Amino acid sequence: MTITHSHAARIDEDLHVHSTWSDGRATIEENLAIAESLGLRRLGLVDHVRHDTTWVPKFVRAVDALRKTTDIELICGVETRMLDEYGAMDLPQDLGGVDRVYIADHRLPFADKCLTPKEVRALSRSNAVTTPDIVAALVRASIASMRRSPLPAVLAHWGSILPKIDIDPHSVTESQLDRLAEAAVETGTWVEVDERWQAPCSATVLGLAKRGVPIVFSSDAHRAPSIGQFPWATTVKVNLALQCGS
Ligand SMILES: [Zn+2]
Ligand SMILES: [Zn+2]
Repeated sequence: MTITHSHAARIDEDLHVHSTWSDGRATIEENLAIAESLGLRRLGLVDHVRHDTTWVPKFVRAVDALRKTTDIELICGVETRMLDEYGAMDLPQDLGGVDRVYIADHRLPFADKCLTPKEVRALSRSNAVTTPDIVAALVRASIASMRRSPLPAVLAHWGSILPKIDIDPHSVTESQLDRLAEAAVETGTWVEVDERWQAPCSATVLGLAKRGVPIVFSSDAHRAPSIGQFPWATTVKVNLALQCGS
């Protein structure tokens, strides 16, 4: 039993670490060195982009150069935010050589815009929107974004917006999980368990995994010492192994 548990608890990948290409403190070379010292199998080098970001081709070449120096599988990713409910994302045109788009809920996509947590709380207080409206908007936007993404996607720290607007992450319904999972499976999207934001909640991860969605593990590190450190995500992984046997 102990052996099974320690095996189940081992996370040998980190699919989302930031670098000096955006707001991380370490270079991609330093991030890779840490991943190697930890014996990770896969590493996601991911930085924030906007529509006017111009460094993506250089970033792709830098990651390619690193691939020649390591046995770790490197995933080259860009992280963007959803801009509305219809799948618009804040992405530059040229994504040549990028492996995955990380779709993030930094704001709440709602109708034709995205709202800051403060704006959402103001709407809730005025009773203009209800909790089910908000969760439904996030689900619709996430599905539309996966379908419109120019590259295979990763749902980054999905649901991290919910606690920021005082919504219990368990407010996601079974039928919403059905639709999210269906879109993720059809589009080859991965869902990450994000240590930094402790999102999605364990119940959502389990619900998506049971519906066949590939689950990956991310620290979302912005500093090298956080790479591969999973105190919370490990409990989610053990829970997954117990419930799904994987
Ligand atoms: Zn993020
Ligand atoms: Zn991030």
